[in-house]
Amino acid sequence: MEKLNIPLSVPNLSKDIVPMIEECIETGWVSTGGRFITEFEEKVASYVGVEKAVGVQSGSAGLHVAYRVMGVEAGDEVICPTATFIATVNPMIYIGAYPVFMDCDDTLNMDLEKLEEFLENNGQWTMKNGKEVLINKNSSRIIKAICIVHVFGNPIDMVKVMEIAKKYKLKVIEDSAESLGSFYSKDGEKKAHTGTLGDIGIYSFNANKILTTGGGGMVVAKDKKILDKVRFLSVQAKTDPLYFTHDEIGYNYRLTNVASAFGVSQMNQLEGFIENKIKNYNLYKEAIKNIDGLEMLPFNEDTRANHWFYSIMVAKDKYGLDRDELLVKLNECGIQSRPLWGLMHDQKPLKQYEAYKIEKARHYVDNLLNIPCSTNLTSEQVEAVVGKLKGFKK
Ligand SMILES: *Cc1c(COP(=O)(O)O)cnc(C)c1O
Repeated sequence: MEKLNIPLSVPNLSKDIVPMIEECIETGWVSTGGRFITEFEEKVASYVGVEKAVGVQSGSAGLHVAYRVMGVEAGDEVICPTATFIATVNPMIYIGAYPVFMDCDDTLNMDLEKLEEFLENNGQWTMKNGKEVLINKNSSRIIKAICIVHVFGNPIDMVKVMEIAKKYKLKVIEDSAESLGSFYSKDGEKKAHTGTLGDIGIYSFNANKILTTGGGGMVVAKDKKILDKVRFLSVQAKTDPLYFTHDEIGYNYRLTNVASAFGVSQMNQLEGFIENKIKNYNLYKEAIKNIDGLEMLPFNEDTRANHWFYSIMVAKDKYGLDRDELLVKLNECGIQSRPLWGLMHDQKPLKQYEAYKIEKARHYVDNLLNIPCSTNLTSEQVEAVVGKLKGFKK
């Protein structure tokens, strides 16, 4: 069998980075100070429509600081999806907080009806230290925040999320690691970018994300005080720069100048990347429509999703192969594909935490397949993948 080489999602870098890296070498600004950091932060901030953004070393680091700044403390609960990458959850555990896992709906995002139902049935207002707080009746712990994820770049209904959060006085963290460039748009209305609608949002620039700095992340928020605190914690919480006094425990999480140079270059290409993602998505969709038993999942209407990852659902009764059989065949012929993440509430270190009525997520874990979606994927490669998908049908 001919061996193809079509990766799932790889970086798409441009040589215009080279002079910037040379500048880093010549000036010695290779670490956590330098002009590319500010330039990259300004580019991201103005692109997503906020005043300020803070560069950090990864999306995970951004989430860690975001939870801290949102007041999540040891013993608090944070509601989050079970269908996500584990980086959403790990920083909660670092803090000693307790995740409560929610199911997804047919958009792959958190099921907001179940979220409301959970809060309605299990939430209880209680006085603690003279303050009214929401506790979880099952655990008696304070429910502090919700962390939502725009899965595969598909924007969740943030209006609804914020409504629920307001009613229950919860902080909202937007894990927008996958959704840089996704925004809500109704004709004539101003664009509202994912990451900027909650209390705090984070983006990731890991190698397989839509834009990469090798490794990196960015934190955004409308409230500048929140971002000042993020910056402060990301540089070891130094209160006095000369005498090195620290009144809090911080982190070494600041983004480097070298990584930021990659970011500056990549930001110039981002809209082009998204155009390619959408073009290839539509090519796949047209072709896959005609393959019985395969269905491409849509992105939400009234949004311009960045189309980061493409998902197809495999129905064995019609297609003849189940998802795993198809996955093996594709990978054997050099078309890299993968299933949805293992669910969070099934992971060994996370099994002990509460999970609320998980039903749909299982169906997607069993039947979903991600197919190649790099921003430099060519239409010939899309045709080759489609050819195999047709060929393997029984
Ligand atoms: C990639 C990703 C992260 C973590 O980002 P890193 O930069 O890899 O630390 C967090 N959440 C989700 C949903 C992700 O996909």
